Amino acid sequence: MMDTKCCAACGQKFEPNPHSPRQAYCSSPPCQRTRKRRWHKEKLLHDPDYVDNQARAQQAWCSRHADYWGNYRGEHPDYVEQNREKQHDRNAKNRGKVIAKMDASNNPNDSLGLHSGLYQISPVRGSVIAKMDLWIVEIRVLSHFPMPDQ
Ligand SMILES: [Zn+2]
Repeated sequence: MMDTKCCAACGQKFEPNPHSPRQAYCSSPPCQRTRKRRWHKEKLLHDPDYVDNQARAQQAWCSRHADYWGNYRGEHPDYVEQNREKQHDRNAKNRGKVIAKMDASNNPNDSLGLHSGLYQISPVRGSVIAKMDLWIVEIRVLSHFPMPDQ
């Protein structure tokens, strides 16, 4: 008769694998994920080499990513220039106005068009969006005139 153990994640009784009698988690996928997560956390706390490796991996990933964007911008100067102009336009338009912040929950598939619905707005003071004041407003689109450059 095998000794049954109590899983450290779900608390269910389970029979440890005879090859790993110290097994503390049952074999269900969520409990195995919990085991790995805890193992990872434990490693981060107590294993400086592991932490170092993780940091390096993260950094390597980031610099690869940065390279990607750096190259993209380098190879698409139009994109950069266009973007800068658009941002400049937007800044000019937004000064002293309110911006409707698209709530993703309204239009999960279309973040480009303004649709009737509830929006969260916050005032722009100078070029800084005020973080304090937020209103939920209802916007009803009565007519729509596309901008020439869109
Ligand atoms: Zn379990």
